[in-house]
Amino acid sequence: MKILVLNAGSSSQKSCLYEITDQPPHQPPQPLWEAQIDWTYQPGVAEIKVETHQSQQIKTLPFQERLPVIETLLSTLWSGDSPVISSAAEVDAVGHRVVHGGQHYHDSVRITPEVTAEIDRLSVLAPVHNPVNLEGIRAIETILGEQVPQVAVFDTAFHAQMPDQAAIYPIPYELSQQGIRRYGFHGTSHRYCAERTAEILEQPLSSLRIVTCHLGNGGSLAAIRNGRSVATTMGFTPLDGLMMGTRAGSIDPSILIYLIREAGYSADKLDQILNQASGLLGVSGVSNDMRQIDKAIAEGNPRARLAKAIYMHDLKAFIGAMVAVLGGLEALVFTAGVGENAPQVRAEACEAFGYMGLKLDLDQNNARPRDQVISTEDSTVKVLVVHTQEDWAIARDCWQVLQG
Ligand code: ADP
Repeated sequence: MKILVLNAGSSSQKSCLYEITDQPPHQPPQPLWEAQIDWTYQPGVAEIKVETHQSQQIKTLPFQERLPVIETLLSTLWSGDSPVISSAAEVDAVGHRVVHGGQHYHDSVRITPEVTAEIDRLSVLAPVHNPVNLEGIRAIETILGEQVPQVAVFDTAFHAQMPDQAAIYPIPYELSQQGIRRYGFHGTSHRYCAERTAEILEQPLSSLRIVTCHLGNGGSLAAIRNGRSVATTMGFTPLDGLMMGTRAGSIDPSILIYLIREAGYSADKLDQILNQASGLLGVSGVSNDMRQIDKAIAEGNPRARLAKAIYMHDLKAFIGAMVAVLGGLEALVFTAGVGENAPQVRAEACEAFGYMGLKLDLDQNNARPRDQVISTEDSTVKVLVVHTQEDWAIARDCWQVLQG
């Protein structure tokens, strides 16, 4: 079965084509084709990058609407210099990352008109993402035809069965009944990393209490017991929890009330400040990128040092909270851009849990680990670095949903 994956974000769209012949393994095979659209290359210009086993091509296209650009991108699958299939009809199914699935979806689902209507309805909760995800679903209907099965894989699904005490905010209950609750995000990544951890440790997932740290430009933690998320740091929106690249994470909500009352800030201005001008960027004034923060610290920049110190403080505090919810820990897992590539962040976070017998193997930690254990033999907690594979997890889910 050839499965196309569309992972559409606000500024980019990653796509790949996998071939699954039998029960899909946990570890991904090499995709037949990978492509990416950068919608923000220049105002009104999109950049397309396409990679196959044989070739790599990059081109730019003017764009007003996304559909023709997606059409050009997909046509490289079956035409041009190095096609990987003979025609569009060879695509058997399409899996989409959909950010918000609300309370309703605990698992990935086959897309029907009812499902698209629900994704549309949930756009108020994810205004930057759900509309773009819908656009991708409609583009596939137009380009490949309505007969091609499509599957929605929700970022929220893995957390949808969190216990009420982890999901319900202590606000008037009627507001919770209106859907104001913790949904949690990055679920596909947290689930993949937990399953991969059990595989690497050769232990059943049900026997492990795991904290997964997805630390990218956005970041969240999940506490996982019996293979299920029982707590997570992101909340009603992906703004909650850890300090991130440009997002503030958890702050006292009274700061917002104060800024509205005393400084006349509008909702849009607060949204922009908290989502785009806060976090590492907001504190340091340098960058949202940890590599630039580290460079600035090396050059003696005190605000970069402060930004990193807050980041580490938050990370340790939230890991501690997740461990407390689990009542113990068998595995601590780092993934995504920072989690996979910043040994110093892992080392400092782990040092805080030395009191419980967690010991990092510093050589392993520094040796660009990928899908491996980086704690010492006698550590009470296994520490792992897992390369997150969201696109492969989407392809696998798509296969499973269609097998019924
Ligand atoms: P996204 O959340 O956009 O999917 P990624 O998971 O790719 O992002 O993470 C991107 C972030 O990873 C960058 O902004 C940067 O902070 C961090 N990063 C990437 N490489 C390194 C590195 N070598 N050292 C430290 N941080 C890194």
